Amino acid sequence: MRTKHVAGLAVALLLLAGCTKTISGTPTAEQWNPTEVAGLPITTGPSGERPGVPPAHVSVQGTDNGPIDRLAADAVDDVQAYWGKVLPGYRPVIYVSSFDSRSSTGSLCGQSTKGLVNAFYCGNDDSIAWDRGVLLPTLAHDFGDMSVVAVLAHELGHAVQTRLGAAGASSIVREQQADCYAGSYFRYVAEGHSPRFQISTGPGLNDILSTLFFIRDTPGTSAASPDAHGTAFDRVTAFQLGFGDGVPRCESIDAAEVNRRVTPAEDGPSGPSLAVSDPAALHDLQTTIKSAFGTPVAPFTTDSACVGRYAVGFCPSDNSVALNLARLSEISGDFAAFGEIVSRAALSVQHARGLPLTGLVAAQRTACLTGLWAGSIVPSHHQALELSPGDLDEAVAELLADDSLIAADQAGAAVPSGFARVDAFRAGYAAANTGTAGVAACLTDSHW
Ligand SMILES: [Zn+2]
Repeated sequence: MRTKHVAGLAVALLLLAGCTKTISGTPTAEQWNPTEVAGLPITTGPSGERPGVPPAHVSVQGTDNGPIDRLAADAVDDVQAYWGKVLPGYRPVIYVSSFDSRSSTGSLCGQSTKGLVNAFYCGNDDSIAWDRGVLLPTLAHDFGDMSVVAVLAHELGHAVQTRLGAAGASSIVREQQADCYAGSYFRYVAEGHSPRFQISTGPGLNDILSTLFFIRDTPGTSAASPDAHGTAFDRVTAFQLGFGDGVPRCESIDAAEVNRRVTPAEDGPSGPSLAVSDPAALHDLQTTIKSAFGTPVAPFTTDSACVGRYAVGFCPSDNSVALNLARLSEISGDFAAFGEIVSRAALSVQHARGLPLTGLVAAQRTACLTGLWAGSIVPSHHQALELSPGDLDEAVAELLADDSLIAADQAGAAVPSGFARVDAFRAGYAAANTGTAGVAACLTDSHW
């Protein structure tokens, strides 16, 4: 984040920089239910290939016949079987290739595959290819086998685009569509329709969203860049649109929609990291909270009894927000730290309306209100603090972590699904376009 009062300092903000976006659209009630993920119950069962299913018959050029290639081939087979069901006349891609970026001496799609840590769809020869040496094993190791499936589902989304005649769109539109198509396929898997793969809607989908975070664009990449894929916030959003609303929603993604979702701040400087130890920054934070929520702001204190084991806590007895500055300073990223403070101020808003402060619904309201605050400080709103590139990606990282307060109730308990947490945050972020009316949108009972 950046303050309007301080000139830019050459301070590296954090690991997670990126772009700021706005989101349009109205979340549906079932997407906001804290016990569900886009209408499906939150589950914690196994994710990956179903046991006992024989390998798919996919001809993979250049394969080493190792386990990663078998997994990738199975994924290509299953994703294309899905498209065969939902898209009448879908033709499988012509070529499927594997290479090892560590040792390859060949080329595919006109590019050398040596050192090419990537997976891609090639429109020139209607092929799909992946790096079995570094990319897919890294993903499988870090995020589980289904992350490999997600990457290939994305690439096959480009094949779908080609078949639907949408391949001429800008990079960011094509990538958003491909993420969305991947989301639609994962809905099919999550509903138990895939004969080959299964995924839990709790930890399983969390890993997929973390995969999208991992493969997000380099911080500060413009959405107008010729090879833009999108920030984590963009990519997770597109995947969730496909998961929640299906293929027609993906097809409807166009330049106009993407442009609406992109804020002008996207290419701006990230600015200096704001410190919770800076009284001026905390003062500006209070100003933005008051503006976002339209209510008197709970004063900040350092009441340690109220903070408990957390970095920040809401104290209903005197309607204050207690900060543990040492703990807050340990949080990586200024948006994450300030967002945790805002989340406790959001409990104050709920308290003032007599709403319960514990339980999953309170946690979701808190995420929504924190998103509302984030949406209220996009640069075009000229607030005392502004989002800067990377802040929303930081929010996604926070929301995918199980210990963040941004989507937690007063007791620190969060909804057990990163997907649902991000959904609630984004709903609030979008509602900021309606000003403080967004508060009511976050608190409306029928939403929760
Ligand atoms: Zn792509």
